[in-house]
Amino acid sequence: MNDAVTAGRDGAAAAVTNWAGNITFSARELHRPASRDALRSLVAGSRQVRVLGSGHSFNRIADVDGDNADTALLSLAALEPSIDVDTTARTVRVAGGVRYAELARQVASYGLALPNMASLPHISVAGSVATGTHGSGNGNQSLAEVVRSVELVTADGETCVLSRGDDGFDGAVVSLGALGVVLALTLDLEPLYTVSQHVFGELPLAELDFEAVTSAAYSVSLFTNWRGPRFNQVWLKQRDDAAVGFPWAAPVNEPRHPVPGMPAVNCTEQLGVPGSWHERLPHFRAEFTPSSGAELQSEYLLPREHALAALHALDALRDRVAPVLQVCEVRTVAADIQWLSPAHGRDTVAFHFTWVPDAAAVLPVVALVEERLAPFAPRPHWGKVFGADPADLGDRYPHAADFAALAQRLDPRGKFRNAFVRSFVRPFLQPTR
Ligand SMILES: Cc1cc2nc3c(=O)[nH]c(=O)nc-3n(C[C@H](O)[C@H](O)[C@H](O)COP(=O)(O)OP(=O)(O)OC[C@H]3O[C@@H](n4cnc5c(N)ncnc54)[C@H](O)[C@@H]3O)c2cc1C
Repeated sequence: MNDAVTAGRDGAAAAVTNWAGNITFSARELHRPASRDALRSLVAGSRQVRVLGSGHSFNRIADVDGDNADTALLSLAALEPSIDVDTTARTVRVAGGVRYAELARQVASYGLALPNMASLPHISVAGSVATGTHGSGNGNQSLAEVVRSVELVTADGETCVLSRGDDGFDGAVVSLGALGVVLALTLDLEPLYTVSQHVFGELPLAELDFEAVTSAAYSVSLFTNWRGPRFNQVWLKQRDDAAVGFPWAAPVNEPRHPVPGMPAVNCTEQLGVPGSWHERLPHFRAEFTPSSGAELQSEYLLPREHALAALHALDALRDRVAPVLQVCEVRTVAADIQWLSPAHGRDTVAFHFTWVPDAAAVLPVVALVEERLAPFAPRPHWGKVFGADPADLGDRYPHAADFAALAQRLDPRGKFRNAFVRSFVRPFLQPTR
């Protein structure tokens, strides 16, 4: 199931990379325990452990600190990919290695649904919620918000279950992989619903009523290539046959890809044709499996009240952004209570950038974007490219110290903390005796 492995050529040592290929992980071996017992003994016997999900993050969040005999980068791909739907309780228990595409198909077959999905269904559920992954919609929270319990293998190889209402649970879902191996998650479901997807054309930035536009449907995405002060496309995903009124732009009458000029064949069905939630909420079809991505991504989440001011700040950078950009997507996310969710405690606007796959050209522009967005207290997406040291992000999360305490309680020796996580939690850790 893992998208992250590339074999070495001509007998050279194999390298483990992420989906985009911009990260070669420090470990040269990806462990794939084939049973829970094998997983437990690998965890108990290692000094450092990190889990790689489907490898769709763009930074070192999943990495181990080095290629050492006692460190383990592991995948759950060889474990049973169980998906157990409870139609009475309206919940699903999903194994730690399963992707949204498989989960959503199974859940829909029982006449049930998730409230939202990310743009790509091929990402793993456990890896997505660990980084605060989200879809769009003024009323839709991040994907982590429907998690009602987490089953972890902790540092000693034992199982620990944290459920909604338990002490520390609000820190246990968006966990950055720092608390243990997520063996399974239980998610809340709702009755199946349909969604129709409508795409509209150019929407000028001038006189944009951001709240009205993003309230126009259940989920709204605005796309721009920043080659002008405008959005090139607006995607509206409307639930349950509700009417779509969008007076600010003209409907387009053929399917579109978010990146202008790219064929729409891999995109979920548009033109207002209703379909099951799982075949419309992602932008990309589950049947189309992208094996690797010629792109880098960054995303910044900030209070929605600053959406217009932030858009104008980015518009002023158009000349620098456009040359290294494939597409920029603007979405909204409702405030949630997960301690490390980038939408924690604030209704959010998310500015996503799909860059060209050229880190040398992109990183100076990322720095510029961060500088211009800084007055709006942005929180970078945990799984994407950003310039800030994680050590400097603690003051953007009111529960950072609570998270550090939870990590220390569940994992006193820091077995699941890599350089990325240590950097974030270190300012808040109490000295151990
Ligand atoms: C094409 C594309 C589209 C995307 N679309 C969106 C989008 O619409 N919205 C959005 O918010 N983000 C989006 N992302 C970002 C993506 O959702 C996140 O990077 C997410 O974390 C990827 O999940 P993964 O399983 O690939 O995680 P990985 O990169 O493999 O891991 C992420 C983190 O999760 C941890 N982890 C994974 N599995 C486990 C486990 N079983 N136990 C413990 N820890 C675990 C890892 O250790 C790591 O810390 C997109 C990325 C790509 C490449």
